Amino acid sequence: MEPTNSTFINEQEISHILERHSKPSYEAVKEVLVKAREMKGLNLQDVAILTGISDPLQLHELFETANHIKETIYGKRLVLFAPLYISNLCANECTYCAFRAKNKAIVRRSLTQNEIVKETEALIKQGHKRVLLVAGESYPKQGFQYVLDAVQSVYKAIDGDATIRRVNVNVAPLSVDEFKLLKAEKIGTYQLFQETYHRETYQKVHVGGKKMNYDWRVTALHRAMEAGIDDVGIGVLFGLFDYRFELLAMMQHIGELERVFGVGPHTISVPRMEPATGSDIASHPPHAVSDLEFRKIVAILRLAVPYTGIIMSTRETAQMRRDTFALGVSQISAGSRTNPGGYEEEVEDEVSGQFSLGDHRPLDEVIRDVAEMGYVPSFCTGCYRLGRTGQDFMDLAKPGAIKAHCGPNALSSFMEYLMDYASPKTRETGLQLIEKTIAGMDGLPATRAKKLVDQVKKGQKDVFC
Ligand code: SAM
Ligand code: SF4
Repeated sequence: MEPTNSTFINEQEISHILERHSKPSYEAVKEVLVKAREMKGLNLQDVAILTGISDPLQLHELFETANHIKETIYGKRLVLFAPLYISNLCANECTYCAFRAKNKAIVRRSLTQNEIVKETEALIKQGHKRVLLVAGESYPKQGFQYVLDAVQSVYKAIDGDATIRRVNVNVAPLSVDEFKLLKAEKIGTYQLFQETYHRETYQKVHVGGKKMNYDWRVTALHRAMEAGIDDVGIGVLFGLFDYRFELLAMMQHIGELERVFGVGPHTISVPRMEPATGSDIASHPPHAVSDLEFRKIVAILRLAVPYTGIIMSTRETAQMRRDTFALGVSQISAGSRTNPGGYEEEVEDEVSGQFSLGDHRPLDEVIRDVAEMGYVPSFCTGCYRLGRTGQDFMDLAKPGAIKAHCGPNALSSFMEYLMDYASPKTRETGLQLIEKTIAGMDGLPATRAKKLVDQVKKGQKDVFC
């Protein structure tokens, strides 16, 4: 089965639902908020009703509900990762991106495999265990093999006895056979953003190269799952079109993956358009999303798909990132560079980078900040390495059983970071947080957490349950 069209994105249905619920009654909103607390997810109508909230009190209730769901399912954990840009060569013409083919204003570079190893080692030295490999859609002479080799290079990199334990990938859509090759390299999540689900807008902003094909892109995750990649990530580039339309279209995409494969996406990313060298539209998004709307988007997603991770990148400022932790974000990048080679050379280069960053702080500082807020930074990769992916992960996650694993694993991976990489100030904050967190746990999670953290204190590495 290889879907070639996108009939599961039904624009007419979306417009109709949005129209019907543009000004929902107080009672209608209340009803959806009550339903959301059951943590079984929401349908398109429910999401449309939430997008129509204008009353500040009800907005506050939305945020409260999102916080309740986040804390119940994920506790205080926040998973950390770093993007690794291996190449900014690109044959496409996405009008919002600095990497687009005709943009002469950036310096082009694709890292050699040796450079990818070095770049990864720079990330390992900071304490990272998870990497998101990113590239433009044009590869050096080896073609797609370049990406496969790059995944190997990341896993091969080593500093002392430390390595990267999970490589997620964000590259252009592939065929089923190519996805099978990618899976064989033991990738974690394959991530792809539709940018906009609105076909007319999509055609307007993608004006050259393979990315002009909406259908090929919107069916990419079907092909990835058909090829056996269990964990896939979706996303929208907010700013291109009406965010309310995009949220409902995402729900249709999720529903379709659930219908065909029995499981929806593992993660949702919420990139908001940032200024990019050589792009006018990136500085003046046609449907700019305000800070308040952005918080609303995160909260609605938390209610709509409670068990799907929400990823927040360093496109956003430190303050916006902080605000959205409480609303449902479960994964964040930190210390990011979007210019290939940026870690090893320690430069944040706006000229060969993809877009401007909002949070420039190094990993150690982000970790300290997160810990001071009471969130436990997690580098855990346990589920993926124990085969708890796709449907298996959701089966465990939905009854809440995953918490008995994630809580202890987050703490042991955080302890490893504190012992091996943290500055003295961060270590002190972190140790206090670990102690306090374990004291607040009971039953099996508490026993497991104590045991794993003790093992790390005694010098063991990479312990998880
Ligand atoms: N080239 C592949 C593609 O387009 O799918 C994968 C990597 S691309 C570098 C990763 C993502 O960056 C894109 O999917 C897009 O959403 C995001 N992006 C591009 N320009 C951006 C901008 N100006 N601000 C924020 N995000 C941007
Ligand atoms: Fe290329 Fe991706 Fe940027 Fe588009 S978003 S120009 S495909 S790197």
